[in-house]
Amino acid sequence: MKTLIFIETDNGAAVSSSWEALGAGLALGGETAALVVGENVAAVAAEAGARGAAKVYRVDDASRGLVDIDLYAADLKAAIAHSGAEVVLAAHTGNGRDVMAAAAFDLGAGLIADCLELRADAGRLVGVRPVYSGNILVDVRVAGEPQFATLRPRASAPAADQGAAAEIVDLAPAAGAARVAVQKVERAETGEISLTDASIIVSGGRGVAKDPELGFKLIGELAEALGAAVGASRAAVDAGFIPYKHQVGQTGKVVRPDLYIACGISGAVQHLAGMGSSKVIVAINKDGESPIFSMANYGIIGDLFEVVPALTAAARAKL
Ligand SMILES: Cc1cc2nc3c(=O)[nH]c(=O)nc-3n(C[C@H](O)[C@H](O)[C@H](O)COP(=O)(O)OP(=O)(O)OC[C@H]3O[C@@H](n4cnc5c(N)ncnc54)[C@H](O)[C@@H]3O)c2cc1C
Repeated sequence: MKTLIFIETDNGAAVSSSWEALGAGLALGGETAALVVGENVAAVAAEAGARGAAKVYRVDDASRGLVDIDLYAADLKAAIAHSGAEVVLAAHTGNGRDVMAAAAFDLGAGLIADCLELRADAGRLVGVRPVYSGNILVDVRVAGEPQFATLRPRASAPAADQGAAAEIVDLAPAAGAARVAVQKVERAETGEISLTDASIIVSGGRGVAKDPELGFKLIGELAEALGAAVGASRAAVDAGFIPYKHQVGQTGKVVRPDLYIACGISGAVQHLAGMGSSKVIVAINKDGESPIFSMANYGIIGDLFEVVPALTAAARAKL
C-alpha cells in the first residue's frame, strides 16, 4: 500500500495532530511518504523524515504562507500524482478536512472523514468512524483510488522520532486559481491550550446562567489548576457567556481528551457529538436526572458554583 500523509503546518511549524496521521499511516505498512506545504517549512519536512516518512514532498513558498484551500489542494493532487499514492491521510482539523475534501472531490475519489481508527484489509483501507453522535462505530470503505481519510486529533499515537533521514523532493507550487483571498489569521492568545490538542478539558454550559462571569471564572481556575483547556456548550456560547472558539459539539469542535469535565451541561446529542469519545467523562450537574449522567464515568450531583471551587482547591493541594 502506498500512503501519502498531508502534514499541515501553521506559521512554519507542524500541526501536532499531523504526526498522529503519520503514525497511523506508518502502522498501515507499505511505503509512506509525506507532503509538507507552507513557508519556511524545511525543518518540518526534515522532522517528517525523522519520524519515519521515507520520502517527503515539500512545497516551500511565500505564496503558501497562509492556508488557501484551492492552492493547497492543487499541491496535494500534484504530490499524489508524483507518489502514486493509493491512500491519502491527514488530521481532521479545520484546514485538513477542507484540503482533503477539495482534492478528493477534484479526483472523484472517496473520503472517510473523522476516523478514530484505520486498518488495512486485503490491500484496501478501512476507516472506523462514529455515527449518530458517537453512539455507533462503523467500518467504512471507499471504492476506487486514491482512498482518502482524515483522522480525529488524539485518536492515534504520534509517529515517534526515529532519527531517520528522508529523501526530500521539492515541488514547485502547483498552479491553481485561488477563489478566496485569505487576508490574515488571528491566532489564539499565547499560552492558551488548544481545545483539540488538550488532554484535559473543563467545559461550562447554561448551568452557569445565574452568574456567567463568575461561573466561567471558576471553570477557568479549575482548568488552570489542571493544565486544561476551557470548553463550552452551544447554549453558553449563544448566550454570550464565552466566545464561539470554545464551543464543543456538532457545530463546534470535536475533541477527544483523556478527561472531560462537564459543568452545568445537560448532555444534548449535539454536545455529545463533540465530546462523546473522551476517555473519562466527569459530569457536575445539580439535576440527578440530567442525561449527561448516562454518559459520565463519574457524576457529581451538586451546584457547580460550590463543586468547581472545591475541586480546584483539591487539585491545587494535590498537584
Ligand atoms: C443543529 C444544532 C446544532 C447544535 N450544535 C451544538 C453544539 O455544537 N454544541 C452544543 O453544546 N450544543 C449544540 N446544540 C444545542 C443543543 O441541542 C443543546 O441546546 C445545548 O447543548 C444545551 O446546552 P447546555 O447543556 O449548556 O444547556 P441546558 O440543556 O439548558 O443544560 C443546562 C444544565 O445545567 C444544569 N444546571 C443548572 N444550574 C446548575 C448549577 N448551578 N450547577 C450545576 N448544574 C446546573 C441543569 O440541570 C442542566 O442540566 C445544537 C443544536 C442544534 C439544533
